[in-house]
Amino acid sequence: MDILGIDELIEQREMEVECHSCHASNTRTLGWMRNRHETSCDSCGEVIVLGTADLRAQVRNTERLLRVLGQQLTEQLSHHRAGWGG
Ligand SMILES: [Zn+2]
Repeated sequence: MDILGIDELIEQREMEVECHSCHASNTRTLGWMRNRHETSCDSCGEVIVLGTADLRAQVRNTERLLRVLGQQLTEQLSHHRAGWGG
């Protein structure tokens, strides 16, 4: 069962990347960030390195949370189905 499309949800999940120069928040999706090592600030154009330990940890945590959530929803749905199936 894959009705939730958790992988897609993760790829499209938006994260905020703060610019170290002007402290603007730059919104990027996880899927976009996955294959890139840096981006430039929407506000001031400064290069923002995406490979920092902090940011990677944040990406991993977000992924894990979404997967757990997806599993819980899938389980709940299947319980409901079982309940209605009588
Ligand atoms: Zn900036």
